[in-house]
Amino acid sequence: MLILVVNCGSSSIKYKLMDMEQETVLLSGLAERIGIAGSRIKQESQAGKELVLEQDLPNHKVALETILKCITDQTYGAISDISMIKAVGHRVVHGGEEFNKSVLINDELIKVLEELSDLAPLHNPPNVVGIKTCREILPGIPHVAVFDTAFHQSIPKHAFMYGIPYQYYEKYKIRKYGFHGTSHKYVSGRAAEILGKSVEELKIIVCHLGNGSSITAVGNGVSVDTTMGFTPLAGLPMGTRTGDIDPAIVTFLMEKENLSIDETNNLLNKQSGVLGISGISSDFRDLEDAANQGNERAELALSMFAYSINKWIGAFTAALGGLDVVVFTGGIGENSKDMRARVLKGLAYTGLEIDEEKNNSRGKEVIISKPGSPITAMVVPTNEELMIARETKVLATR
Ligand code: AMP
Repeated sequence: MLILVVNCGSSSIKYKLMDMEQETVLLSGLAERIGIAGSRIKQESQAGKELVLEQDLPNHKVALETILKCITDQTYGAISDISMIKAVGHRVVHGGEEFNKSVLINDELIKVLEELSDLAPLHNPPNVVGIKTCREILPGIPHVAVFDTAFHQSIPKHAFMYGIPYQYYEKYKIRKYGFHGTSHKYVSGRAAEILGKSVEELKIIVCHLGNGSSITAVGNGVSVDTTMGFTPLAGLPMGTRTGDIDPAIVTFLMEKENLSIDETNNLLNKQSGVLGISGISSDFRDLEDAANQGNERAELALSMFAYSINKWIGAFTAALGGLDVVVFTGGIGENSKDMRARVLKGLAYTGLEIDEEKNNSRGKEVIISKPGSPITAMVVPTNEELMIARETKVLATR
């Protein structure tokens, strides 16, 4: 069964064509700068054929039509006809309180998603445009929405509520939602599989560390708590996002610096985190290089990040009532042996011992704690597209 996985952003579309009999990727691609000068599509097939198509992509409809041509291209594509695609899985960032699992898309559902745009104004509108356009171009096959927030709908109310007047939860649905859910679900499940255990019998903390970072406590196979909140700004300090700060800082700075709402949003989302601290970069490779050359603020940014991770691991161990497994994923979690080592050294009090040799790897599934450690530490590269394709297959074949 061939499934197309689509992740539609405001000016980009990521896609993967998956063969779900063997769970293999037939091709993957990215359309960028949609609606902006210099748009293009880059695609790579399983056979290693790379296509770079520089072409005007004025809107998502043209972009998706062009993507389907690339997928069926005789030389660079993977299939001869779009009728071979049997279902489409769409990544949707916000499912609000309405969705605790993936759903088949119909006209009614699109209306609900549009109503949810208030909660994710940057993400949900392009997701909906992608869904509408794909249904036009690929009618008559199942389309499935897979939500970033769905996995976290199991978080209990005492953990998802904020200490603000209750009326704002009722009026605006202000509460913790959590994000990266598809990744946390995949990674926790895969970690259990690698350990030969059922996910229900393990207490797992998944550290998804990338441009955006979040940590999730998984107990009995479900999300018990997570670091991101009402928006993806909460929790750990990230590439350019603050993570948790005293909320009074926001109004203080707005007053002192005479900032508008837009300027404040930009400051908190785009100029903060490790970029803001280091003044150098949001990219951890640059920060590690700079810290190695003695740059103190780069070192400070890295140690703040590691400290914050350790603090959350401590908090979530309490939430879970113990800890069996810590898993690293995301661009930093999968690739930075230095950041993993910093975090695991901070867990030495538990008796966990890092296996330096095993930790010296990138982008691979590997156990990086020494045998006999009371807590197992491991790396599991995330695979959100596979998870989306799996959920799509289940709903499409029901
Ligand atoms: P993601 O958002 O999951 O794609 O992660 C992207 C981030 O991963 C980049 O901004 C880098 O900070 C980080 N990253 C990628 N490769 C490495 C590496 N080899 N060492 C340290 N950080 C890395």
